[in-house]
Amino acid sequence: MPHIQQLAPHIADLIAAGEVVERPASVVKELVENAIDAGASAVVVEIQRGGMGLIRVTDNGCGIAPTELPTAFLRHATSKLRRAEDLSAIGTLGFRGEALAAISAVSRVEILTRQRGAVSGAMLRLEGGVPGTVEEAGAPEGTAISVRDLFYNTPARLKFMRKDSAETAAVAGLMQHLALSHPDISFRFLKDGADALHTPGDRKLDSAVYAALGRDFARSLVQVEGRGGDIQVHGFVTQPLMGRGSRAMQTFFVNGRFIKSQLLTAALEEGYRNQLMKGKFPGCVLFVTLPVTAVDVNVHPAKTAVKFAREREVFDAVYHTVLDGLAEKAAPARTKAVEETVNPREDFFLRMDAGTFRQQAASRPAPARPAYNTEWRVDKVEDSVKKVPYETKRSAAFGSAPASVVPKSAPVKKESSVPATPSPATPSPAAPAAVSSRQEEKRPFVPAIPQEKLELPGQETLLKREEAPWRMVGEVLRTYIICESQEGCVYLIDKHAAHERINFDRLKEGKTPPMRQTLLRPIAAELAREDSALLLENLPLLEQFGFACEDFGDNTLLVREVPADIDAEDTVSTLEEFAQNLRSGRSMEERRENLLHTMACKAAIKGGWYSDPAELSVLVEKVQKGEVRYCPHGRPVAVKLTKYELEKMFKRA
Ligand code: ADP
Ligand code: MG
Repeated sequence: MPHIQQLAPHIADLIAAGEVVERPASVVKELVENAIDAGASAVVVEIQRGGMGLIRVTDNGCGIAPTELPTAFLRHATSKLRRAEDLSAIGTLGFRGEALAAISAVSRVEILTRQRGAVSGAMLRLEGGVPGTVEEAGAPEGTAISVRDLFYNTPARLKFMRKDSAETAAVAGLMQHLALSHPDISFRFLKDGADALHTPGDRKLDSAVYAALGRDFARSLVQVEGRGGDIQVHGFVTQPLMGRGSRAMQTFFVNGRFIKSQLLTAALEEGYRNQLMKGKFPGCVLFVTLPVTAVDVNVHPAKTAVKFAREREVFDAVYHTVLDGLAEKAAPARTKAVEETVNPREDFFLRMDAGTFRQQAASRPAPARPAYNTEWRVDKVEDSVKKVPYETKRSAAFGSAPASVVPKSAPVKKESSVPATPSPATPSPAAPAAVSSRQEEKRPFVPAIPQEKLELPGQETLLKREEAPWRMVGEVLRTYIICESQEGCVYLIDKHAAHERINFDRLKEGKTPPMRQTLLRPIAAELAREDSALLLENLPLLEQFGFACEDFGDNTLLVREVPADIDAEDTVSTLEEFAQNLRSGRSMEERRENLLHTMACKAAIKGGWYSDPAELSVLVEKVQKGEVRYCPHGRPVAVKLTKYELEKMFKRA
């Protein structure tokens, strides 16, 4: 064994530097936090080549006395911590007294500073941590630190640095967090000379959110505020209908510090329970403030994790703040938006078969009404839906059905089927009555697919019942298709799952490249920084899936073409899910599969939406042929009930 020796100071410094200075973003973080601790009201951050060329942070804070300049660069030199007890009550951002020492150990540093009110300033240069002499220098009040040639003396680390673009994105993300957590400070961020972020520092959180996260996101937010005991929560959360495709737009601060926390994410999302579409995540900028002794910030070297002393209380405070905030402020907006999305089917149908759609639209009095023998019942449902709030729509629709099925209630029906608030597209009050009486006499015998449908051009092949070994009875809950097969089985088919599976198989087969639609007006998809960076690295892959995108700066992708079978409106959410897919897969193969799932799902008809019987019969045919068994997520597409099983249920067998 060689002798044990104490490490030479500069080697110890290099090792310590590795812990603090991981990448350019960590340098920026430390320097800006120092500026904030110094009481600055304006901070300018400039980087070149992702920070590998230059990082300069300029502040108008308190400055450093010339005599203390060399000390500031010594390890464990800090003006912020005096006693061990202070450790449990850390109020300032920096406290280890390590940053300047660590940064200067692995770069070339120049610091120019002047204390407030001092006549002159001072300048010091360090190379690899070795200081030159302090020189008197003219300088504005505050401090400017330039860090050049990061890791120039640690080649091993230099080799592991990612592309400049990735480092730039990391610094940009950090700047967003810093700007959001300090609305009272004006932040300016320049990358390679170009302005990338500039906040006013007017103390208003919404100004900072607008400047840092963009207009579209800012507009999707509701303000929330609440407290539970000594735990305060405030900030902004997205309206339920403005859910995002990933969690990238969730930003949490605890006592002003940006952190990642599963506890806070869970509390936030619990507040949206049953209000968000599946696969959607809320976005937020939320601040949790609690006594410094109730949270341990010292658990993670990069300080992005915290440990709460009273987790349950923190969870409850966030959960209730979100829940109450949404109930209070988002309700009117939500109802309005729901109305907009409830009937997007006409669009879809238009794309499916324009000619058919036009003919049907002309021959149909009410907007998009299914042509089953249960027509009158749909009127009834629409009628009751209008009167109940969104949350109870499903149960109301379901609940109203049994009453109206009772044949004797015909006179009552006549009255109640007059819509309470007639819409322009609703037929005259006499029409529903006529419909119900027609239905009344036909009900037991009416074929599943009405005769007139057979005459539609291009539909015959699908709808000739004589040839089909099955009969589509109808659709229930706007989700499940009911069919009867010739050999006496009843099938319930989940229309979304079936369509998703068909799409998935077609995409996976990949025989034909995806059809694309060129957008009349390109969509500027404003995304979370991590999402946009990841997608930009994968533009050729997006291309394969039918998206033509280009970098539009500021975390925005300009989308010129989208796959023909997704709604242009779904572009942003699809891209967000793509980013999520790209992050989550372990292998390229798995990532591809995930992307296919997303595409298949986005292109599929949705449960709860109106579907035309013609669309549904295509699905039924495929299921009957056995082409489709399970949806890509492994859920069954169809459930089969044999005659025998039914007879057993009714104690006939
Ligand atoms: P820490 O921030 O943990 O105290 P640092 O190494 O980051 O340790 O900084 C050492 C000291 O240098 C700080 O405690 C502070 O007194 C001083 N200092 C660093 N940056 C600035 C700045 N921008 N303005 C004023 N003082 C600064
Ligand atoms: Mg510091």
